[in-house]
Amino acid sequence: MVKKNILVTGGYGFIGSCLIRELLKNENFLVCNIDKLTYSSNKDSIDSSIGNYSFVKGDINNITLLKEIFLNFQPDIIFNLAAETHVDRSIDNPDAFIKSNINGTYSLLFEGYKYWKLIAEDKKRNFRFIQISTDEVYGSLNDKDNPFDEDSLYKPNSPYSASKASADHLVRSWFKTFSFPTIITNTSNNYGPWQFSEKLIPLVISKCLKNEKIPVYGDGSQIRDWIRVEDHVRGLINIMENGKIGEKYNIGANCELRNIEVVNDICQNMDKINPNSKNSFKELINFVDDRPGHDFRYAINNNKIKNLGWKPKYSWEAGISDTVKWYLNNKKFLLSKNGDEYSGERLGKL
Ligand code: NAD
Repeated sequence: MVKKNILVTGGYGFIGSCLIRELLKNENFLVCNIDKLTYSSNKDSIDSSIGNYSFVKGDINNITLLKEIFLNFQPDIIFNLAAETHVDRSIDNPDAFIKSNINGTYSLLFEGYKYWKLIAEDKKRNFRFIQISTDEVYGSLNDKDNPFDEDSLYKPNSPYSASKASADHLVRSWFKTFSFPTIITNTSNNYGPWQFSEKLIPLVISKCLKNEKIPVYGDGSQIRDWIRVEDHVRGLINIMENGKIGEKYNIGANCELRNIEVVNDICQNMDKINPNSKNSFKELINFVDDRPGHDFRYAINNNKIKNLGWKPKYSWEAGISDTVKWYLNNKKFLLSKNGDEYSGERLGKL
């Protein structure tokens, strides 16, 4: 098998760390992780003693650092996952989202292209810049609309999704204008181990453990399309190997659920695995004011990536039960960081 030097940005985040854990199973892959180590990162998520792994602490906007990494590491592949990712935070303080998600992607494209132009023909032909994006760039669907496909128009509704959409447009333009070999992937809501505890699934589990109210936006009827993070990263590796440059791929598992169903399923699993004295954890559910501009439904059509031979392995039932068990076995991770529930003032309230 061909050896590859793979640069992953944001590799101590939820999805980046899962991608690196999967890549490191293959000793032909040399992996370098550049991560700024923001609040959502976790250094325990990767076994750093593995020989084919290295880590550089830094911001993807640091051009000097990028130049050094390109020179010393000579990547064949770049997976760009570094980003600010929490929609609520983007409503309160969009600044960091513009800097990391838009300017950061631009810095990587700019320096990556300069590096790529000068490498040997063979390495140049096999090089890929893979941008990890979200289904949120497509906006919101109604109940009866068809799921988004790769040709759906971009209609982002939050500062987070707008920053990701902007980055996607830059990536596309580097392919169209400079023939830089890029691929964009748009995935749906990921779940699984090591997700920072402000996001829905770990938040609900931590609220159950603390016997606190479980906040659910509006009436909980919003629909999200869920995928186990391990299925997502297998899709990314498949795209690295088989994806066509200049193309986009949606990565989803055809698993649409209302938020309230997700919360109920977690409570049911908690009742089974870690029962509270006499009451069901469902009694902790507390409906709160809806998020401004809250998208009603996301759903993505995954036919295109299935044509590459990929399909999800996890069912929702097995995936969520296993996820609840993981957090219960890793309570230290779940409860150790501050700010597990994000409760800043929203711009929308000003
Ligand atoms: P995360 O918040 O868990 O991790 C992000 C990581 O990026 C952190 O380790 C952080 O320190 C790092 N980072 C942030 N800004 C940086 C910068 N300027 N320079 C270097 N490192 C920086 O996020 P995640 O859930 O793992 O998401 C990874 C990617 O996948 C993001 O681009 C996100 O938009 C996309 N995505 C996530 C989901 C999801 O459900 N989690 C869904 C669709 C798309």
